[in-house]
Amino acid sequence: MKKAIVIGSGAGGAMAAKMLAQDFEVTVLEEGKAFHPFSWSLDKLAKFRKSGLYFDERLIQLLLPNMRIEKTPEMVMVYGKGLGGTTTLATGNAVRADEGLKKIGIHLDEEFDELYRELPITTEHQRYWSFITKKTFNVMDEMGMAPEPMPKLLHPKGCALCGHCSIGCPTRAKWDTRELLEGMKVITGCKVTQIEIGDRLAKRVHARKGMCHLTFEADVIIVAAGGMGTPDILRNSGIDCLPTLFVDPVLCVAAPMPGVKQNRQLLMPFVCRREKYILSPYMDWLSFFFHSSWCHPMEGIASIMIKLADVEQGDVHGKKMQKTLTETDHRYLKNGVEDCREILLRMGASEKEIFLGTINAGHPGGMLPLTSAEARTLHSSKLPENLYVADATILPQSLGLPPMLTIMALAKRIAKIVRTV
Ligand SMILES: Cc1cc2nc3c(=O)[nH]c(=O)nc-3n(C[C@H](O)[C@H](O)[C@H](O)COP(=O)(O)OP(=O)(O)OC[C@H]3O[C@@H](n4cnc5c(N)ncnc54)[C@H](O)[C@@H]3O)c2cc1C
Repeated sequence: MKKAIVIGSGAGGAMAAKMLAQDFEVTVLEEGKAFHPFSWSLDKLAKFRKSGLYFDERLIQLLLPNMRIEKTPEMVMVYGKGLGGTTTLATGNAVRADEGLKKIGIHLDEEFDELYRELPITTEHQRYWSFITKKTFNVMDEMGMAPEPMPKLLHPKGCALCGHCSIGCPTRAKWDTRELLEGMKVITGCKVTQIEIGDRLAKRVHARKGMCHLTFEADVIIVAAGGMGTPDILRNSGIDCLPTLFVDPVLCVAAPMPGVKQNRQLLMPFVCRREKYILSPYMDWLSFFFHSSWCHPMEGIASIMIKLADVEQGDVHGKKMQKTLTETDHRYLKNGVEDCREILLRMGASEKEIFLGTINAGHPGGMLPLTSAEARTLHSSKLPENLYVADATILPQSLGLPPMLTIMALAKRIAKIVRTV
């Protein structure tokens, strides 16, 4: 049987591995370890907010090692390192976001149809919506923003409505790619450093596991180490990437509303699409613990997220992000803030009490963007024949939308192509 190596176990990697396992002996190499959700009591930790202990977002990594934080002066980048990649930290939104792909001639209808059949995608959570969620929905509806319930990768009956989706679902009601990897050969704690290339073929994968240097040979290699991991592996292997990093920055606008308990709701229960950004209710834990304006009790904050499709410019080197938001990005964020202010005022907030959160981002990608010339093969001419990239790195433009489903659709198509060549 032919062998395939898949690097990374997140949205792209796990889906590619699952698909390839039908014809290949697949080994998944994952830098992180098994995922464990955040197990500390947020209520107890909240008591220390005034102590000055929470001075840097990177401290989260001590309590939740599968969450990685990278900072620039302007924003905080969050991504996953561990089995399941960033999907374990995702809020489970399953949105088709393939406008940019369609523009360059990539049509993934068949793959999206398969995903809708195979995965637990549902809007059934509506019956669990609390008073504050319904109120926010109604206000946005009255404002003509056309809110839609968010399709979720969720087994709704298991949801404890704890609001912990983005720090690890404690009941596993939220689906993540660990479900695809059950029964597969996965080597965790194995960091790929380089792919050795010769005669226009990828020959060997070099990796580190603890103190050991490991090498793996395979007929096909799929790189899916995510927007923060893949560019380093490619560049170490002599393959150039572009400084076209996008991150879909998020900014939350909030107001004190005593007793509304938004923190006890599914995060992002519905969505409004605006030009270049979306709006959705979101309890922003990062800002709650690390931003000085978020000093109200957690059950007394109503917060709305702006998620922006940013200008594709920026870079990653050694998992360090270089990125500044452009004037255009700031203009759209400002529009979003105005929308949120209006919503919160209509919900009864007082103008002077509205506050903003920390700009954070969780959708890195775009540094080896697909082009129309690659629409059929989904394979960059920069890559050797038997090496594919199947993660957010190949998305041609920022989305301002949850990318997981679209990455999985791409990974499915890539695996189908690999199986037929
Ligand atoms: C808080 C948060 C909430 C989110 N919510 C949603 C949501 O609701 N819906 C949605 O669609 N998207 C959401 N996202 C984004 C989504 O999770 C990611 O866009 C998606 O998982 C990216 O898939 P990927 O395959 O590109 O990379 P990832 O899922 O990040 O997987 C990459 C994997 O590669 C591993 N890796 C990295 N480097 C190496 C190496 N050198 N060797 C071996 N392994 C390596 C990493 O450890 C990781 O496991 C969210 C993100 C965050 C941070």
